[in-house]
Amino acid sequence: MPPQTAPSVLAALIGQGIGPSLTPPLHELEGQRHGLRSIYRRIEFHAEQDGPADLARLLDFARRTGFDGLNITYPAKQTVLPLLDELAPSAQMIGAVNTVVFDGERAIGHNTDVTGFRASLDDALGGTGCGRVVLVGAGGAGSAVAHALVMRGVQSLTVVDVDAERAAAVCQSVQESHGFTAASAHPEDLPALTAAAEGIVNATPFGMAHHPGAPFSAELITDRHWVADVVYRPVDTVLLQAARKAGALATPGTGMAMHQAADAFEIFTGRTADRSAMLADLNALIAAERQEQHAPQI
Ligand code: NAD
Repeated sequence: MPPQTAPSVLAALIGQGIGPSLTPPLHELEGQRHGLRSIYRRIEFHAEQDGPADLARLLDFARRTGFDGLNITYPAKQTVLPLLDELAPSAQMIGAVNTVVFDGERAIGHNTDVTGFRASLDDALGGTGCGRVVLVGAGGAGSAVAHALVMRGVQSLTVVDVDAERAAAVCQSVQESHGFTAASAHPEDLPALTAAAEGIVNATPFGMAHHPGAPFSAELITDRHWVADVVYRPVDTVLLQAARKAGALATPGTGMAMHQAADAFEIFTGRTADRSAMLADLNALIAAERQEQHAPQI
């Protein structure tokens, strides 16, 4: 019998400033668990110097060189739309793509940020409904969260952003896709809004190392709330610490990050991802990164 090689999976992340992304090791580790030769590369794409023609060339190159798929992040999630042959419902509803899979000559766009946040909420809330929810932050992540919340049957949704136009745009997007009317509001309305809500989601960068603190006063959180953060580096953000202290259910952003990667892995390979193992990998990668950051520099 001739020597056999294991099947492979070849993928990459396209975006700006993606050096520290944990998506590549997360995919490679999951691929290895499936006995696949697993290669996941990073391809830098700069907002100022690269345009749609460069992205088209990258996509064409990836398809022709046998990539199974690509993940797409800032600043290319919308630039990629007209370059695709088909959009899955998740990408169509939000008008942004973070996952591209090649099917022969065809490139198909998905959005696993939407499905990822929804799955993380399912893990946290089980069969319980979302209730009335206040979403703080209406950027790329906030938009995915808003669609996921509406798909999960949120009772009411208020989108809060310091940038009123961004909040209004997310409300318009969920109206157009789902016929659901969400309200937009300013951060100064948060005391009244959170008092009348069961759920609070942070989709601002507050809580990350370079954005320390919380996006609003922790005193607004009570034990009636569930609180979800999309920030996951660190896992235990200031907001989640405050939520736990107040007796609220606290859901870290690692759930969304793991599920979006697991959904993409399944789209690339057609295999069922081991989500518990992927979450353990993600937590270990984050812990190792923090240890490295705190190691004495000699
Ligand atoms: P973004 O810059 O596109 O959007 C952030 C939004 O928050 C902006 O609209 C900004 O105006 C608003 N904002 C900032 N401070 C605010 C405040 N105090 N009150 C109200 N609104 C405020 O960023 P993004 O791409 O949406 O990412 C946001 C965070 O989500 C980042 O930390 C990112 O790492 C994280 N993220 C996590 C996942 C995951 O899988 N867990 C996925 C995507 C993004």
